Amino acid sequence: ADDLKIAMGAMGLSEKKVSNVMTKIDDVFMLQEDTVLNTKTVAEILHRGYTRIPVYEDDRHNVTALLFVKDLALINPDDNFTVRTVCRYHVHQLRFVMEDTPLRIMLEEFKRGDYHLAIAQKIVQPEEGDPFYELTGVVTLEDIVEEILQAE
Ligand code: ATP
Ligand code: ATP
Repeated sequence: ADDLKIAMGAMGLSEKKVSNVMTKIDDVFMLQEDTVLNTKTVAEILHRGYTRIPVYEDDRHNVTALLFVKDLALINPDDNFTVRTVCRYHVHQLRFVMEDTPLRIMLEEFKRGDYHLAIAQKIVQPEEGDPFYELTGVVTLEDIVEEILQAE
């Protein structure tokens, strides 16, 4: 029966999209570039427990880098480095995908690429003016695997 569930879940991948399984932007733990990495902020980052943290400049829709928790390993909190400084030293691939990307394609991407978290976005077309991208969430391999495993 478990095999059948997994098979059904895998089939569901063809209809579902990134937006159906992603973590919504408001729930994403992010850091501002100017954040100083002192004892307090490092403790909070570790407490959150995420491995990959989007880093933004000015506002949360302007993600500029990814911080990996392991990048903090050798940071001395007394040096008061900013997130920006660490991100310039440890550069990780930042990937954006459209939120309506089918999960099957997203899964292929994760399998092929060397990254495990993508930033989801959509195009907003205002009544007047130019269309622009808006960030809507993050998606990881784990979100897709869960979708496959939990199908009924
Ligand atoms: P890993 O398991 O590789 O150590 P992780 O536990 O940080 O990484 P994942 O296992 O990839 O993250 O994903 C677990 C869930 O957490 C997923 O639903 C994913 O969307 C979500 N997630 C990942 N990073 C963040 C983040 N920075 N803020 C909020 N949610 C996140
Ligand atoms: P990932 O897990 O994302 O593949 P990594 O562990 O391979 O990262 P990092 O240690 O995160 O690599 O390094 C990120 C960047 O910092 C790289 O561009 C690398 O060239 C640079 N870097 C790492 N160590 C040094 C060093 N000792 N001197 C100068 N640059 C370095």
